[in-house]
Amino acid sequence: MTATTKTIYPYQQEYLVEGEDNMLAFGAALARNLPDHKGCVITLQGDLGAGKTTLVRGLLQSLGHQGVVKSPTYTLVEPYYLNGRDIYHFDLYRLGEPDELEYIGFRDYFSSTSVCLLEWPERGENYLPPADIQLIISISDTSRKINIKSSFIININGL
Ligand code: ADP
Ligand code: MG
Repeated sequence: MTATTKTIYPYQQEYLVEGEDNMLAFGAALARNLPDHKGCVITLQGDLGAGKTTLVRGLLQSLGHQGVVKSPTYTLVEPYYLNGRDIYHFDLYRLGEPDELEYIGFRDYFSSTSVCLLEWPERGENYLPPADIQLIISISDTSRKINIKSSFIININGL
């Protein structure tokens, strides 16, 4: 018998986020919802230019990161250490085959305390642990629609 695991997301919400500044604020609001002393896997889906990296930048800067947030398109992952926690920003856009993830020691990044943010999680399908927070971003003219599903309640204030 095969056991199937299906992630159930009790929390789901949709937001309309207008402009880059509000996207940064959304990332910052999300950062305030990260569970203390506990790992968290966040996936970000959406076309090129949807605003995934912008949201991640808002999250990282709100936790004290100064300077640019590089898109880890070629390196696949960019590590941060902020507020006493390890945060890993992945961009799997250029991943050829999902099993290439094994070469970069992918599993080691997903610890019980690290926060992993993944752009293009579709490229690593079946190799990734289930997301605690799933963000799907779609473009509509000058704004973005964010569909958020989470295994716990998220409180996005001030948008
Ligand atoms: P991705 O990582 O999904 O490819 P980026 O974060 O690089 O996308 O953003 C692409 C562009 O979209 C940037 O010019 C950014 O300013 C813009 N952008 C991001 N969020 C929003 C938003 N909520 N509304 C309008 N433009 C946005
Ligand atoms: Mg990006």
